[in-house]
Amino acid sequence: MIHMGIGYDVHRLVEGRKLVLGGVEIPHDRGLEGHSDADVLIHAICDALFGALGESDIGHFFPNNDPRWRDQASSVFLKEAVRLIRLRGGRVINVDSTLIAEAPKIGPHIKKMKTHLSALLEIHPGRLAIKATTNEGLGFVGRGEGIAAMAVASVDLPL
Ligand code: MG
Repeated sequence: MIHMGIGYDVHRLVEGRKLVLGGVEIPHDRGLEGHSDADVLIHAICDALFGALGESDIGHFFPNNDPRWRDQASSVFLKEAVRLIRLRGGRVINVDSTLIAEAPKIGPHIKKMKTHLSALLEIHPGRLAIKATTNEGLGFVGRGEGIAAMAVASVDLPL
């Protein structure tokens, strides 16, 4: 049976933090604020996978008051989501995602993100899409106050 899931996340851009998107460190004057490394793309993908499983959101599995997840690489969360799918006898079919950021330019980093994330998802890179857009200068994303991400996932489960 094919199960769909949707994920959305936002993190604030602040000074003094590294910018990590899709598990890749990207040179920028600011980074995303959060308890973990605040990788907004991985968080949205995790929520899409948990959604496909009929589960709660990423904050339920990895609470932001748990010291274990402090400054944790979000790749760990994605690995855990995929492990949960495997435990249920399932597999990821495909993931589609969009990063919404006014800056920096995401395009040059997408290939590296795809290689990294498709390995964690245990899928061929052709089954993972990472797209990027600006917000045309509108709203909090347009003002460069934060970065948002959206994702959908399909997961094959025994029932
Ligand atoms: Mg998040």
